Amino acid sequence: MPVSDLKTADPAIYAALENEAKRQNEGLELIASENFVSRPVLQAMGSTLTNKYAEGLPGKRYYGGCQFVDVAEDLARDRAKKLFKCDWVNVQPHSGASANAAVYLTLMNPGDSFLGLNLAHGGHLTHGSPVNFSGILYNPSYYGVEQDGPLAGRIDMDKVRDQALALRPKMISIGASAYSRDFDYAAFRAIADEVGAFLWMDMAHTAGLIAAGVLNDPLPHCHIVSTTTHKTLRGPRAGMLLIGKDGENTMGKIAPKSGRVKNWSELFDSSVFPGMQGGPLMHVIAAKAVAFGEALEDSFTTYSKQVVLNSKATAAAFVEKGYDVVSGGTDNHLALIDLRNKGITGKDAEIVLGSADITVNKNMVPYDTESPFVTSGIRIGSPAMTTRGLKEDDFRDIVDLIDRVLSDPQNDSVMSDVRGAIHEITARFPLYDFVIA
Ligand SMILES: *Cc1c(COP(=O)(O)O)cnc(C)c1O
Repeated sequence: MPVSDLKTADPAIYAALENEAKRQNEGLELIASENFVSRPVLQAMGSTLTNKYAEGLPGKRYYGGCQFVDVAEDLARDRAKKLFKCDWVNVQPHSGASANAAVYLTLMNPGDSFLGLNLAHGGHLTHGSPVNFSGILYNPSYYGVEQDGPLAGRIDMDKVRDQALALRPKMISIGASAYSRDFDYAAFRAIADEVGAFLWMDMAHTAGLIAAGVLNDPLPHCHIVSTTTHKTLRGPRAGMLLIGKDGENTMGKIAPKSGRVKNWSELFDSSVFPGMQGGPLMHVIAAKAVAFGEALEDSFTTYSKQVVLNSKATAAAFVEKGYDVVSGGTDNHLALIDLRNKGITGKDAEIVLGSADITVNKNMVPYDTESPFVTSGIRIGSPAMTTRGLKEDDFRDIVDLIDRVLSDPQNDSVMSDVRGAIHEITARFPLYDFVIA
C-alpha cells in the first residue's frame, strides 16, 4: 500500500476539512448539542482501530485478534462505571439513537404504549415522533410543559401522574433536547412504580453535567439510562447505555421479556449486539475511553460548573433585554428563547445570526404557532464555547451582539461589525491549530 497523506491523496476532501476547521476556529458555536473534543480524543478516532472487527464483548468475541481492542473497551467501560457510579454500561451503541433503539427492543413489544416528553415541548425524535421508528413501531403519548402559571415552561408532575394512571403505559421516558430545567427522577420513579411501568432516562444532552454532579442523578431511580457521548460529555460522536444497580430484582416486579437470563444488563447487551448492530466501532470506543478519562479529572467538574454559570448568565442577559426565555431561565447548559415578541421567526434568526458567524439553531418553543421548519424560537447552548474558555462576561457580550443583529436584521453594517467582534472573541480563545489530529 503506498504511503500517502490526505492532503496530497485527496485535495478536495482535505480542503473541506481545512474549511471546517477554520469555521470552527473563527465562528461562535452556540448549538446546545455540540462541543469540541480534545486532540487525544480525535487521535483515538483517527486510529487503526477502525480496521478491527470485534463483534461480542471483551473476552467473548466472535473474531480473533481482539486482545488490544479489548483493552480499549475494558478501559472505556471501567471509566464510564466510575464516572457515573453505576454497575453496568454498554459502550457499543454507534449513536444516541441506536442506544435508544436498544432500549425499546429490550423493554417493549411493537404496539406497546409509552409516555414521553412532547417533541414540541423539548422532547427528542426517538421518543415517539411519527416519522421515527419509536413512533412507527410503538404507541406514544406525551406529557408536556405548562403554558402559564407558576410552572410555565416546566413539567407538572401531578399531570404526568394523572396521564400515567389513565394510560397505564409499559414505559415512561424522560429526557429532552430543548428543556432547560432539571428533572425530578424520584417523582418519576414513584409514578412508574404506581402504574407498573419501566422508567427510562435519555440523558443525551446532560450526561456531562450529571457526571460532574451539577444536575440530579437519574441512575439511582431509572431502570435504564441511555446517552450520547458527544454533547456535554465531550467525547466522540456515539452512544452508551447504563444501569445504576444491576441484578435479578432491579426491575422490581416486572419480569424480563425472556426468562433465559437473570440480569437485565444481559438483555440490553444482546439488544445492542446482535439485536441492533453488527461490529462495534472500536476506534470510537477507544476515543470514548479517552474522553471518560478526561471527564474523571477535576478540571471536568470545573468545566461543567462553568457551563451552567455561563448558561445562567446568558439566560439572565436575554431576560434583561426583554426577551422571553422559556421557563424564565435555566438549570443546565441551554436556554430556549421565544422570539414571538421580537417580530422575527426562529428560521430567520438562525439565518441572520449565521451570517454574523454565530451558529445557533431554530427551535420549536412550547405551544409554538409556527411550523417545525419555521419555529418561533432559538436554542442557545454554552458547552462548546465554555470548552474554549469563555466565562460569564464573555457570554453577556455575546448576548449584546446577538441582540444587535436580531434588533436590526436587515442592517449590513451591524452585521459586519458584529462578525468582526465575534472574530475578535474567538481569536482570544484559540481552539485547533491543526487540520488533522
Ligand atoms: C441528541 C439526542 C439523541 C440522539 O443522538 P444521536 O447520536 O444524534 O443519534 C437522543 N436523545 C436525545 C434526548 C438527544 O438530545
